[in-house]
Amino acid sequence: MPIQTDTQIAIIGGGVCGLWLLNQLSREGYQTLLFEKDALGSGQSLASQGMIHGGIKYTLGGFTTPASESIARMPEVWRQCISGGGPVDLSGVEILSENYHMFSDGALTSKVTAFFGSKSLRGRVNALDQKDYPEVFRNKDFRGNLYELEDLVLNTQSLLQQLSEPYSTAIYRDAPEVNTDSEGNITSITLSTGEILTAEIYIFAAGAGNATLLKNAKVANISMQRRPLHQVAAKGNLPSIYAHAVSIRSASKPRLTLTTHHCLDGDNVWYLGGNLAETGVGKSGEEQIEVAQREVKDLLPWIDIDNLSWTSFHIDRAEPAQENHSRPDFPFVHHSDNTLICWPTKLTLTPMLAEQVSHAISITPNLLAPPKYNLPLATVGISPWDGLF
Ligand SMILES: Cc1cc2nc3c(=O)[nH]c(=O)nc-3n(C[C@H](O)[C@H](O)[C@H](O)COP(=O)(O)OP(=O)(O)OC[C@H]3O[C@@H](n4cnc5c(N)ncnc54)[C@H](O)[C@@H]3O)c2cc1C
Repeated sequence: MPIQTDTQIAIIGGGVCGLWLLNQLSREGYQTLLFEKDALGSGQSLASQGMIHGGIKYTLGGFTTPASESIARMPEVWRQCISGGGPVDLSGVEILSENYHMFSDGALTSKVTAFFGSKSLRGRVNALDQKDYPEVFRNKDFRGNLYELEDLVLNTQSLLQQLSEPYSTAIYRDAPEVNTDSEGNITSITLSTGEILTAEIYIFAAGAGNATLLKNAKVANISMQRRPLHQVAAKGNLPSIYAHAVSIRSASKPRLTLTTHHCLDGDNVWYLGGNLAETGVGKSGEEQIEVAQREVKDLLPWIDIDNLSWTSFHIDRAEPAQENHSRPDFPFVHHSDNTLICWPTKLTLTPMLAEQVSHAISITPNLLAPPKYNLPLATVGISPWDGLF
């Protein structure tokens, strides 16, 4: 006999992972609720650069890697969702750029150049002729190579808005406590109202919050790693750019990763990550901004950056622990009994994670609306630059 529970699925954490799962599982007919302790997306999701990428940046060594191949089909999956035909409907999401660029300050190594033109990349990267350059690179001082990638860049705020809207009354602002029996099995969650909620399945999609939430559960041996970043943003009269800067100097990693976003007051914001953010973790804000300014002057000397406002902030990527603290190549889903622990590891890989979660769930959808609680509903947060400038 099935155990009497309050809901079929309870999700904890309202970033892209929790919200995507809420959508997909509700559409599959499961009675699903989500609890978010703060604003939706206020962890990593709104701080992300919004790039839905196909892994080309992992091929700068001149060969494909597990990371570059696992992710290769993702832009296409997202495009299907954006056209209304995928496992979730993203048809209203704002696309900031339909493609992404990769530019070098000088000639890339002949090995990488040959590899980019090779059949193994199946047209995932195309060298551009000068006549096809985007506006920002149409300058006599740009003398490097420019490639177009099939990647797209999304407005993450609009993505979270679109994911939350259809199920807004099932998304509560609360940080429930997790209850376990003496063996560490999860038995229920306690809401801040004091009510105890039971579910057939508990999904932990709380990013960096997963570790604390699961400290008393028997799955506590799943360990998490944080990879810290020191991101920089510049605001003002700036042209749009969506590009990785690579050079022989930066070897196998983009030296700088640039995306352009819109501030609430209409100004453009350049959001700077990549190697700059990874290597700047120990620097003060002032030092990091100085490095960023030098990088922009060096890589894009024709851009006037004298009258911009600059800011920086620290944020961690939260992921399953890896040997040598390296970057995980795949989304992570751990399933045991009534518990699923999830880290997409990249925004891009969320659909792959959701596929795995959907396969792991073996209960029968009951098609019922989830129960109501006397708790505030959670809403989408603001982008970091809107809070900082
Ligand atoms: C600076 C930066 C740039 C990035 N850029 C890209 C990119 O361009 N492309 C890409 O593919 N990936 C990118 N990523 C990675 C991507 O952002 C993350 O993999 C993804 O957003 C993780 O989503 P999530 O929902 O698992 O976590 P989060 O977005 O962190 O969401 C977790 C949520 O859980 C909530 N929570 C925590 N504890 C509790 C609790 N006890 N109770 C209830 N709720 C709780 C938090 O408040 C948060 O809202 C980037 C990451 C960073 C940090």
